[in-house]
This record gives sequence, C-alpha cells and structure tokens, in this order.
Amino acid sequence: MTTYLNFIDGQFVKGSAQPFANHFLTTGEVIGEVSAAGRAEVDAAVGAARAALKGPWGRMPVAERVALLRKLADGINARFDEFLAAEIRDTGKPRSIASHIDIPRGAANFNVFADQILTASTETFEMATQDGTGALNYALRSPRGVIGVVCPWNLPLLLMTWKVAPALACGNTVVVKPSEETPATATLLGEVMNAVGIPPGVYNVVHGLGPDAAGEFLTSHPGVDGITFTGETRTGEAIMRAAARGVRPVSLELGGKNAGIVFDDADLDAALEGIGRACFANTGQVCLGTERVYVQRGIFDRFAEGLAQKARGYRFGDPFDPATTMGTVISAEHRDKVLSYYAKAREAGATILAGGGVPDMQGYENGYWVEPTVWTGLPEDSAVVREEIFGPCTHLTPFDSEDEVTALANDTPYGLATSIWTTNLGRAHRTAKAVDVGISWINSWFLRDLRTAFGGSKASGIGREGGVHSLEFYTELRNVCVKL
Ligand code: NAD
Repeated sequence: MTTYLNFIDGQFVKGSAQPFANHFLTTGEVIGEVSAAGRAEVDAAVGAARAALKGPWGRMPVAERVALLRKLADGINARFDEFLAAEIRDTGKPRSIASHIDIPRGAANFNVFADQILTASTETFEMATQDGTGALNYALRSPRGVIGVVCPWNLPLLLMTWKVAPALACGNTVVVKPSEETPATATLLGEVMNAVGIPPGVYNVVHGLGPDAAGEFLTSHPGVDGITFTGETRTGEAIMRAAARGVRPVSLELGGKNAGIVFDDADLDAALEGIGRACFANTGQVCLGTERVYVQRGIFDRFAEGLAQKARGYRFGDPFDPATTMGTVISAEHRDKVLSYYAKAREAGATILAGGGVPDMQGYENGYWVEPTVWTGLPEDSAVVREEIFGPCTHLTPFDSEDEVTALANDTPYGLATSIWTTNLGRAHRTAKAVDVGISWINSWFLRDLRTAFGGSKASGIGREGGVHSLEFYTELRNVCVKL
C-alpha cells in the first residue's frame, strides 16, 4: 500500500482532510491511500510558493533556471521506469501508450520550455516627441507570481508538466492540485525536484477532491495570482467564478465533442488508421479524440465497416503486459457514465456496428472495462452525438457536400479540434478554415509540435498554451517608456 502525501515547501506532509483510497483499475483492488489537503495545507503551500518567489528562485538568472529545468527532464528520464509504473497503476493505460507518450512527453516539456525562455524576446517601439528628443518604449516580462495548476486524470504527468514547465521557466512558483484519481506522478515529481536542487516552495502539490476541497481551496485562495486548468467545461466555469474574486487570470483547456471529417477522395487506409486512433486511443479518454465522424456518402459503408473492424481489434488486459492495447476507463463512476450513453444509444435506436457493452474479462471481472463502440443512425440532436462522453466510442453520419459537413461539424457548443481526411489540397485548406476549432489536423491526428498554439474556442477553453503562447499566460508584460 502506497500513501500519497502532499509536497509542501520541499517536504512530504500529511493532509488534515479525510484521506481516500487509490485503486488499481484493472482489478478494482485498493492499492494506496491519498492523504488529502485541508485548507491549512493549501494555505501552507500557497505561503511556501509566495516565500520562494521572494527567495533564491525569484533572484535566479534565467540561465540557471534553464539548467535546472533540463535537470528535471533528465531526472524524470533517469527514473523513467518508476514514473511509467506509477502512471500505469493510476490510469490503467497500456504500457505501450504510457511509455511512448505520457512519460517521454512529461519529461520533454521541461526541455521545450527551457528552449523557449532562452529565445524569448519582447517588443520595442521608438517614438517621436514634441521637443524632438524622442522616447524609447521597451517591454519587460515578469513572472505572474504564484500559479494554481489544476489537472485532469487522462494524461496526468504530461498535462501537468505542460503547465508546470512554462510556469517555472518564466520564474513563477506553483501549487499543483492533481486529479484525485491520479496522485502518483505529481508526488514522485516532488522527489525529483528535491534531487535536482529546485528550491523548496517552488513546486508544491496538494491532494484532494475538487468542490469544497483542495481544488476549490486552491482556486479561491487570494494568494494565487493566476490559475491554469485542464478538465471539464463545467469545472472550468466554477474555476472562472472563483478566479473572478481578485480578478485573477485563467487559462482553461476544457472539453470537446470533436468531429472527424472523411471525404471520398481520402486515402482510406490512412483515414481508418488515424480516425481509429482518434476514437479509441487511451480508451477514448483524450480531449482531442473524435466522438463524431462525418463520412462522405460514397465511401460511408466501406469506412463504417473498416472502423468497426478497428474497434473489434483491440486486446484488453493487464496494462503492464506489452501485448495489451486497451486498458480500462478511469473509475467505476466513469465506466457507469460511458455505459449510460451506450444505453441511451440503444434506446434511441442506434445501429451498433461494433461493441456496445463490456468485454468478458475472466480474471479481471472487477476492472472498469468498456468495449470500443461504433454507432450510426442517430439524429444530430441526440445526447450521444451532442455531449462529450469521454469513452472509446463514436457515431458515424454520412454527408454529401463540403458546406453541409462544415455546418454539421460546427453545430456544437465546443470548439477544440478536428481531423480532416482528403487528398484535395484546396478542400483541405477550405475545410480547416471553416471548422471553428483551435486545432485542425489534415490527414493526421495528434501530431504535435510543442511550439504551436494549443487550446480551444467556444466552450472548449480560454487562451492558448504551447511555445511562445505559454509565455503570454505565465508572465506579466510591462512597458517601460524612456524619454531620451
Ligand atoms: P474534471 O473537471 O472533473 O476535473 C479536473 C480537475 O479539477 C481535478 O483535479 C478535480 O479535482 C478538479 N476540480 C473539480 N471541481 C473543482 C472545483 N469546483 N474547483 C477546483 N477544482 C475542481 O475533469 P476530469 O474528469 O479530470 O478530466 C476529463 C475532462 O478534461 C474532459 O472533459 C476532457 O475533455 C478535459 N480535457 C481537456 C483537455 C484540453 O486540453 N482541452 C485535455 C485533457 C482533458
């Protein structure tokens, strides 16, 4: 049994709130206990972060900070197997995913933002003055201060360091509230912080639930200068309300109901491979995933059969087994939510092309399994087609024209991502421009250059992170005007 402690001012400490159990999702058994932070620990963490800003961290030259960020990346990689095992135990995701995506990207984020801060520049403007001497304006970037970082469970280390790395690169200090479902890698990172010499108080972790618990205590704490959040849209709204007190800025990466678009001139095998991943990878628990696929009528039946075959081709099992290609979903509660949509689809008369239930898992009967599922035949206004399910499932709808498909894709409150498949160059660019999302992929999915802007429009978020765009949130830009 592992006990996950809070990490405050460089020390691992017990929380004063009610502890809760941590489960191995493949078997449902309790494998650990999370020591939850109460108001007192959140207060201590914010205080430690504030003190660290005023201490050596706040005075450290950029080059030294950058060297420490690179040591953090090396420190994660040096303990790769421990991070990997921790992430697999917490999420139930297959080793093949965690070893290729979660842990390497979790480490790489520190190098990406180390590079970014070294080359960051600001604007200057010369101006004329009436007396003819002129003036020079230049901008300075200062750290924003103490950043509250609230994270989801689907890519725990990767999405946390996506925020912590730029925050630290810019000279801020952080208090992280990991998801209650996935406390392990954020805690382990505390050990790496100490080992590489990050000063105490720069990185703090408080564990616990969201509402009326560590999450809310952190986001409503007046000592927090900015809040960065990834998670559900409804939680984002609550966090925005909390941030309104004191007019604190927020960066919100929220939910989606992303459309895949497959034209009849697409490379069918490539489209099936890409859309298949977009629907089912990480057991469908990817914010950028595709739960609605629009397929041009001429290839609809072939595509539908091909995608159903992909859905049937996954191998469930122990996530530590290299042969496993699909793990569980994150919790019993989330399994029940996903299965409630499977029931809604059946009740609404969907044609089920693959899956639709739970797999028969001998030896792992208590794990949180759901089958990859493909439906067709539902109207666009059904709950299954409109609401984010966050499971390994998708609905296929045929379309005829470009205009029709962009209207269908845009008929949603969300605006996170799309994946467009066509060999017609003009059509590809036109469609990418017409679909109102933050991220469009053409003939690909989840191909990420970390320097690019990442974020959603409409109810999928506020702000952009990634590359230089992260600097906008994690720094305060200040203009200095010098009369010459
Ligand atoms: P969630 O909103 O339930 O929880 C996220 C975090 O917020 C957790 O740490 C939780 O404890 C905390 N929280 C909950 N209520 C809170 C409150 N009132 N105040 C402060 N903190 C609170 O999300 P989740 O279920 O962990 O993650 C899945 C969701 O995340 C999906 O909607 C998915 O689309 C979204 N997501 C978005 C992106 C993106 O980049 N846009 C990436 C990954 C996941």
